[in-house]
Order: sequence, then structure tokens, then C-alpha cells
Amino acid sequence: MAQCIDRAASFGQNLYVDTRGAAGGPVPFTEAVVNGLAAGGGLYVPQELPSLSVAEIAALAELPYAERAAAIYKAFNIDLPDETIDELMGRAYGENFDDAAICPITSLDDNTHILELWHGPTSAFKDMALQCLPHFFSASASALREAGKLDHDFMILVATSGDTGKAALEGFKGVDGTTIGVLFPDGGVSDIQRKQMVTTTGDNVRVWAVRGNFDDCQTGVKRTFSDDAFAKQLLTEDAVALSSANSINWGRLLPQVVYYISSYAELVASGKIEAGDEIDVCVPTGNFGNILAAWYAKQIGTPIGMLLCASNDNRVLTDFINTGTYDISDRAFILTASPSMDILVSSNLERQLFELTGRDGEAIGRWMADLNEKHCFRVDSDTFARVRENFSADSIDNAHCLATIKEVLDEHGYLLDPHTAVAYAAAQNLRGENPVLIASTAHWAKFGDNVYRALHAMAPGEALPAEVASLTGCQLNERIAEETGRCDIPAGLANLDTMEVRFTDVIDNDVEAIEAAAEAFCRR
Ligand SMILES: *Cc1c(COP(=O)(O)O)cnc(C)c1O
Repeated sequence: MAQCIDRAASFGQNLYVDTRGAAGGPVPFTEAVVNGLAAGGGLYVPQELPSLSVAEIAALAELPYAERAAAIYKAFNIDLPDETIDELMGRAYGENFDDAAICPITSLDDNTHILELWHGPTSAFKDMALQCLPHFFSASASALREAGKLDHDFMILVATSGDTGKAALEGFKGVDGTTIGVLFPDGGVSDIQRKQMVTTTGDNVRVWAVRGNFDDCQTGVKRTFSDDAFAKQLLTEDAVALSSANSINWGRLLPQVVYYISSYAELVASGKIEAGDEIDVCVPTGNFGNILAAWYAKQIGTPIGMLLCASNDNRVLTDFINTGTYDISDRAFILTASPSMDILVSSNLERQLFELTGRDGEAIGRWMADLNEKHCFRVDSDTFARVRENFSADSIDNAHCLATIKEVLDEHGYLLDPHTAVAYAAAQNLRGENPVLIASTAHWAKFGDNVYRALHAMAPGEALPAEVASLTGCQLNERIAEETGRCDIPAGLANLDTMEVRFTDVIDNDVEAIEAAAEAFCRR
């Protein structure tokens, strides 16, 4: 029985160390979540990992998803009371998802299973973590407040190129002790993405369009974070600290470990595999967070064989896994049909390497310094061998990605978004004997323009016909739904044209403008 997963007797004693060994000693889960990044720039990982038997994992299928998550967090021995964990997970994984299974699996054939991670409020997989992290964040802050270790609130600031901003807004809206401000490049996100953000409800949310491109927007936000005088002023005058709650936060990674364990249980319960059978997992990868979560799931006992890493044309991770050298010294950033994987510096790889070196913080510190200074690092041969034991990788270009969307629709009547299409195509190239679980990271209707191109055999980046280009994102999705007979556009995406636009401010990308906006929001 799943209920038999024991919380270690030493409640609260599973501390978190950091990947560079530079911070002032290990901290409990609550502090790791509130701190985000460790002092010294390293990332937190748990000192000890739980170990689950196949029987314990399989038994999770008897529980609703929220209870599976709670059972796994207790196995990780996080320092929040059991009742708090139960209550928070009930809120994180409930009616806010449009499927009772939270992340159901659709099988295309006996050995190809699509894990649909986009049934949350924003229709992208970031909801799986961002519907949970804010609860951890708020509960951790209250616990620290009660312990006299904290006496302020938080303002989360997020620069977004599209998906993350809306997922963060939905996650943090209405959460006690926090406000959330999101900045996106004016004109640099799709119609759907912009409308998703500027129609967000709730009192503690604010959205700004920023003049310039995503880089300008992100640089402005980074400068705001490193302005100590501004931080001090906000803290003394408003009792507010800035936080980013970004994808390097352990509280964002842990919820992702849950769905790999849970989907293994699900596959066993539905008779698609036998308990103990190995599966391979294929993940469309950007920051390496999602695939790292699958590695942790394997490490704590889920029978996972190979982790298949799927890249788009920004193939730095594929090249790393194939050569042992991570090199961005001469690599241009390429805009692709799968924009949420357009990343050159893959921040969660640091955690993976820490684990694969047997937790050698010194080596990690050296490699990260090389990356910073020479834009390149090379791992030693033992570490590279371990990379090869666990991972294989391939990159899929835009034309192949779009062709895959069409092919899968024709063969299976199933419509993939471009990110999932990259994973599907990579899995076809990399798979062996094991059944493959493919992480599907977005609903197709978030990326209607490229889905339209795929269905009409258009080239990547080709201009849409004028009559199609003039449609709103919602209208384009309806057109695709009619053409394909798919009538599964999520409610949150279908109604965007009729929702009230709450935020219309456009600000400059310099640090003064961003700080002025943040301060005005703080004192609203
Ligand atoms: C963020 C994102 C990814 C990449 O996930 P990582 O954890 O950064 O590897 C893939 N697909 C979609 C749709 C995303 O939003």
C-alpha cells in the first residue's frame, strides 16, 4: 500500500546541500525554497534521496494525484507537517486542472505513451510545478516567520518569453504574503500568450509590457535583482524582498519528480506494462529541469532505462551528451518553432553533473567558472561515461518538427504541439526495445501558428496567408479545430478574446523604469 511509504523518523532532518559547496552549510527544505539559489551561486539538492520499491510505486495508482504527490514529498522528508502537505497538495492538484487524472497518459500504440502535462490552467507543463511551488513558498515563509527567521513579504518578479509568465501568474495569484509581477517583451510574444497574461485576475498580480526584445527585458530584471540599494529600500520601507521563484528552485523541481513516478504506477495499473518492466523516457529539453526530474525518479527506484534528451536547433545539450563538451563559445541563439526550448545556458545541468560526479562540488565550481569565462567546459571521462549510461540525445530541426506534427495526426489522429513533436521525432530516432513515455509539454493550441504551418505543409517561418494572419490566436485555433476535427481547445485558451484586458502599461527596459513600476505596484 502507498500509505506504507514511511516518513523517516528523523522529521526535518533531510537537509539540502548546494552543488558548489560554497554556502554556509546545509539548510532544510523550507529555507532552500525561500532562498532559491544558494549563497555562492550553487543549486540546492537533498542530502539524501528516498528509496521506493516497485511495489510502493505501483500502489500509488490507488491514490488521487494530490495524494501521490503528498506521499512522495513525505518520502523526501520535507520539513512541513503532514497535514500541511496534504492540504497544500489538495489545493495544488484539484479543480484547477481540467482532467481528474491531472496528467493523463494517451497511448498512441502499445509502446508509445504520451504523458500530457498540459491540463493545468495555462495549458503548458510549467503548471505542474507552478501550481505547487507557490504553496510551498508561502508555507515555507510562514514557517520561517513563526520561527523568527523572517519578517517580510515577497514580490516575485519574472521576465518571460511566453509560457513561464502566465504559469507563474496563475500559481502565485491569491497566495498569502506574495505579490507577482511579470514583464514580457512588447510585441515579442504571441497573441495567445499576451492575452493569457494581461487578462489574469487577482489582486496581487501585475503585468508590464517592456520595450525591446526578451533579452532587454531579462537584462533589466536581472539588474533590478542585483541592485542592493533598491532591495534595501524595499525591505526597510515596504517590508518586501524580491524573489524570482525560477526554474532552479528545488521547490519547482520536486513536483516534476512526482509525475514520472506517478505515470509509471499508472502504466502498471492500466496493464500497459508489468511492475518492474523498464521504460525509457523522452523529454523535450531546454533548461534540463524536466529531464533531471526523470533522472531523480529513476534514482529513487522507478524502473526507467534510458533518458532520451530531445533538442531543437539549439542543440547544445545534444552535443554535450554526445561529446562531453558543453560549448557555447561559437553558438548562435536560434529562434525555432519550439520557443520554450530556445536556451543556450541550461541551468539545471549543474545539478545533474553534481549527481553524476558523485557530488563533487569542486569539479562543478571549476566547470561553471569555465563556462562563465571561456563559454565552454569539458567533463572528465568517468563523468562522461555516466552521462552516456543514462542519456542519449538527438536534435530535430524545424522542418522535421512540423512534418512530425502532420505525420502523427495522419497516423494516430493525435495533434502534437511543436515541443512534443520534437520529443516524438527524437524518440523515433533513439528508442530501443523499451516502451517510451514521451513528456508532452504543451497543448497544441498554445502554438497554433506553427501547427497551422504543419497541417498545410508550409515551411518553418513562412508567412501565413494574409487571411489567416489577420485572425486572432483564438480564431486561428478554431480554424485548426474545424480542419482537424479536434474539439479539445482548453477553456482557458478558447475564451481569451472575450476576457477583460486588465494590464496595458508599456514601460522602458532600463532598471529605473522597472524599479519604479515594481515600487508603484508594491504601494498600490
Ligand atoms: C519550459 C518548456 C520546455 C523545457 O523544459 P525544461 O525543464 O526547461 O527542459 C519544453 N516545452 C515547453 C512547452 C516548455 O514550456
